[in-house]
Amino acid sequence: TAVLARANAGGLFSIGRTPDSEKTRSVFERALKKCRKQAERAGRARTGRCGRHALLLIIMEEMNMRDDNCIFCKIANGEIPSATVYEDDDFRAILDLGPASNGHTLILPKNHYKDLCEADETVMAKILPLAAKLGKSMKSQLGASGFNVVQNNGTSAGQTVFHLHVHVIPRYEGGPD
Ligand code: 5GP
Ligand code: ZN
Repeated sequence: TAVLARANAGGLFSIGRTPDSEKTRSVFERALKKCRKQAERAGRARTGRCGRHALLLIIMEEMNMRDDNCIFCKIANGEIPSATVYEDDDFRAILDLGPASNGHTLILPKNHYKDLCEADETVMAKILPLAAKLGKSMKSQLGASGFNVVQNNGTSAGQTVFHLHVHVIPRYEGGPD
């Protein structure tokens, strides 16, 4: 419980989960085991101790808040640099690598959700107002006359990156794209 309290102090369980619930406890214990195993493999066999940061990453993965193989997780959490146009506690908005128009932006939640069906409802509730906010600044800052808000779920719907994201695509009258 002492270690659990330490993880809590890091704010890890603040996202709509009860800190001392059975589920949290079992996730934590599973993550700790995994982390120790990793530490042993990495050569720290004598103590089997794992670093706090490594443990937090594993806990997040166990809670499906993060997927180690997901590029948007790394971008959203700042592990891979990106052209960030907006950031808050829940989201990072970045410029799309293959833009459909000048200023094409992707809103990425910092937590990992494969698509809209998996997403936390509080995240869903925040994402559309953010899209509107970005759309408004595309109009005032980039001279866009309108914008599309697009969100793909599943391969057949055109989803290519399986970390929930919302496209905000500025449109221009007689301007760039
Ligand atoms: P989807 O087709 O899944 O709705 O959209 C994925 C979008 O992510 C595409 O528009 C694609 O250009 C963009 N994209 C894919 N990989 C990266 C990346 O590493 N960085 C950025 N900024 N955009 C990416
Ligand atoms: Zn992800």
